[in-house]
Amino acid sequence: MEPKKNCNLCSRLVDLRKKNKILFPNFYNNRVLGTGPFSCELLIIGLAPGLRGANRTGEVFNGDFSGNLLFKYLNKYNISESYSEFEEISNLNCRITNAVKCLPPNNRPNSLEIKKCNVFLSSEINKMKNLKIILTLGEIAHNSTIIALNKNLTEFKFKHLKKHKINDQIILLNSYHCSKYNINTKRLKLTDLDYIFKLIKTLLNF
Ligand code: SF4
Repeated sequence: MEPKKNCNLCSRLVDLRKKNKILFPNFYNNRVLGTGPFSCELLIIGLAPGLRGANRTGEVFNGDFSGNLLFKYLNKYNISESYSEFEEISNLNCRITNAVKCLPPNNRPNSLEIKKCNVFLSSEINKMKNLKIILTLGEIAHNSTIIALNKNLTEFKFKHLKKHKINDQIILLNSYHCSKYNINTKRLKLTDLDYIFKLIKTLLNF
């Protein structure tokens, strides 16, 4: 199950979408679905589309700083082969999605929006029968994932670089979001991203 085009479950986000269709008529301005095969063992979960990133291009983690940085690391660790704006990603060996599929004001979805969109995240996770590693980027993505997995938030708390054992099959890794702000403020260091992707490669044996 995935959200239909022009999904109208979240009125605040629908209002913002309508405004952006006027302000930015050349942008995609709609819900953004995940990308990558459901058969993969790795799932990367971000927060929500960025105004000038996925909300503009229509492709998850595409067209802005966060997307460029994420794909730089996916390429570096041979999880994808190429990436450029508006072009198809080749040989993507993971699935990438967002906890919330529509652009929220100030990049902050509210709890109701997170809850409403969680049904789609949960469905996406459940389709991944070979799933072994989930990398969540930021606390909202982490909390949404824990809810989608029907786990307890008090038992699984977000902590940067923490590894959570969800069950015998799935390990969840936490990182701060690879946003420009987090990189510029050094909250997230490039060496942290190397640590995470090396760990993923080791855990997945590829
Ligand atoms: S955030 Fe999710 S549930 Fe809300 S309108 Fe967008 S697609 Fe629908």
